[in-house]
Amino acid sequence: MASHELKTPLTSIKLYTDIIERKMKHYHDREIQKIIDKNQEQIRRLQILVDDLLDVSRIQTGKLTFQKEIFDIHSVIQDTIELTKEAAAHHPIVYNRGKPVLVYADKFRIYQVLTNLITNAVKYSPKNSEIIIVTEVADKQVIVSVQDSGIGIPESEHEKIFERLYQVFESADQKSPGFGMGLFISKEIIRKHKGKIWVESEPGKGSTFYISLPLAKKPS
Ligand code: ADP
Repeated sequence: MASHELKTPLTSIKLYTDIIERKMKHYHDREIQKIIDKNQEQIRRLQILVDDLLDVSRIQTGKLTFQKEIFDIHSVIQDTIELTKEAAAHHPIVYNRGKPVLVYADKFRIYQVLTNLITNAVKYSPKNSEIIIVTEVADKQVIVSVQDSGIGIPESEHEKIFERLYQVFESADQKSPGFGMGLFISKEIIRKHKGKIWVESEPGKGSTFYISLPLAKKPS
C-alpha cells in the first residue's frame, strides 16, 4: 500500500521537474541546470527504490506476474548494456554477441536482473576495471555470467546476499547506497523461470554472478 501511495506523488514530481527543465533550458543558467540534474538523479533513485519495494511486496503476496515470449538472450544483454551505459560510464564492458540463443521468458524481468548484476558490478569494483559478460549454452540451458574484479564477497555470505534486505557490511557504499533488494528480486525472477542464480567470488579478487535459463523448446 505504502509503495503505491509513494508512486503517484513521485510521478507528479518527475513530470513537474521535466517541465521546469524544459522551460529553464531557454535561460542557459548553469547553476539552475546543475540543481535540476541533481533533482532528476534523486528522482531516478527514488523511482528505483519504490519499484523495488513494489516488487518485494508482489513477491510476498505471490503477485509477481510474468509475460513470457520467445526472444534471443543476446538482444536483451545488448539492450541492457546500452541502457546502463551512463551508470557504467567508467567501466568498460567486454561482451561478444554470439549466435542467437532463444529463451522463453519475460524480457523486461530478465533485463531487470541483468541491470541489477551490471550495476552491482559497477558499484563494487574500482573505476576503469572491466566487466566481462559471457554466455554459454549447455544441457538445454543458457548460462549468462557477469564478472567484475572488485571487492569480492566472502564465502560465508554467498547464499545470504540473495536474501531480502541483506547487505555485506564491509561493502556498504555511501555514494550509492542500496537496500539489499536487488538480488532477492533477481533470485525470485530467475526461480520463476525455472533457472538458477549463484555467485563465485573471493574477497579482493572480484565476483562472477551467473544466471541459468532453460532454452526455449523447439515447436514439435
Ligand atoms: P544492494 O542494493 O545493496 O546492492 P543487492 O541485493 O543487489 O543490494 O546486493 C546485496 C549485497 O550483495 C550488496 O549489498 C553487496 O554487499 C553484495 N554484492 C552484490 N553484488 C556484488 C558484487 N558484484 N561485488 C561485491 N559485493 C556484491
